[in-house]
Amino acid sequence: MINPLELIRENIRSLAPYSTARDEYQGDLGIYLDANENPNDNGYNRYPDPYQAALKAKLSQIKGADASCIFVGNGSDEPIDLSFRVFCVPGRDNVVSITPTYGMYKVAAAINDVEIREVALKSDYSLDIEEILAASDANTKLLFLCSPNNPTANSFPRDEIVRLVTKFTGVVILDEAYIDFSEQDSLLSDLNKYPNLIILQTLSKAWGMAGLRLGLAFARKDIINIFTRVKYPYNINVVTQHIVLEQLNYSIAEPVATIVAQRKMVIAELSKCAVIRQVHPSDANFVLVVVDNPREVYNILIENGIIVRDRSKIRGCAGCLRITIGTEIENKMMLDVLHSIAAK
Ligand SMILES: *Cc1c(COP(=O)(O)O)cnc(C)c1O
Repeated sequence: MINPLELIRENIRSLAPYSTARDEYQGDLGIYLDANENPNDNGYNRYPDPYQAALKAKLSQIKGADASCIFVGNGSDEPIDLSFRVFCVPGRDNVVSITPTYGMYKVAAAINDVEIREVALKSDYSLDIEEILAASDANTKLLFLCSPNNPTANSFPRDEIVRLVTKFTGVVILDEAYIDFSEQDSLLSDLNKYPNLIILQTLSKAWGMAGLRLGLAFARKDIINIFTRVKYPYNINVVTQHIVLEQLNYSIAEPVATIVAQRKMVIAELSKCAVIRQVHPSDANFVLVVVDNPREVYNILIENGIIVRDRSKIRGCAGCLRITIGTEIENKMMLDVLHSIAAK
């Protein structure tokens, strides 16, 4: 079994992190004259907790993961970027991902000057396990998997993901941004079985907090410690920590069930539209459909005030539009427009 700590960049392993005023003194009673803050209390004049202890305690309860195995970032973007900065030597190391998938992995790779080797999904959007494993070499550090996958909307079977995690000789980053909409269970409950696994989740989708920017990474404690050392000390601001903590008190079961029920209705209705060639199965809060003239259909939707994502230029997504599941009324309006377009 690989030891992921051995994959960490030399300069990161020996990093002495910035020490905040709260590192030096942790009590919560007293007169704070140690952080050069403005003493006038307006609710925001103090620096946030750099370790997000209250937030992690709450997330630990909800997710059933030890708080020491949780990293919180400024959206999922932060742990994605940190993965490159922690493990990949620019200009030398490489990572593997599937394609089509979430575009952020490729952007983060480019920013960090790290080669990304994209392995195409099969025509039914299933994993090509042999090709993925064959794509790595001695300088391969990371494998990005996204399940349910964006934009294809399908989940990959758990046993295939596990096979990749156990066979891949680097760190596997499993992006579960849409897991709450999925029939499949998260791999989080098995996190401690796989030392080279990092699971990403987010509060941006099922939890409805995209505007607050809160992404989660789950991994063994020593990887989380390294991420914490590398991050900006105050990466989650006071307002986000406060509001998220409050919002986490409300269950997402009902709103998620509503979206999943709407997804079922939308898929059934889309399948009846003459203009729709194919509706891909979905385990997420969006559906991927195939049409003959994606730009034309896209423009007709725009003319009717409905904005979807044109994914037709992406490799493996010819003719594809990605449609997010909205409210019942929004979905009905979208379907009315698509129903009204005659087939070519
Ligand atoms: C939307 C999405 C995210 C969430 O990103 P945030 O930065 O947390 O808002 C992560 N991964 C995938 C695949 C997504 O589609």
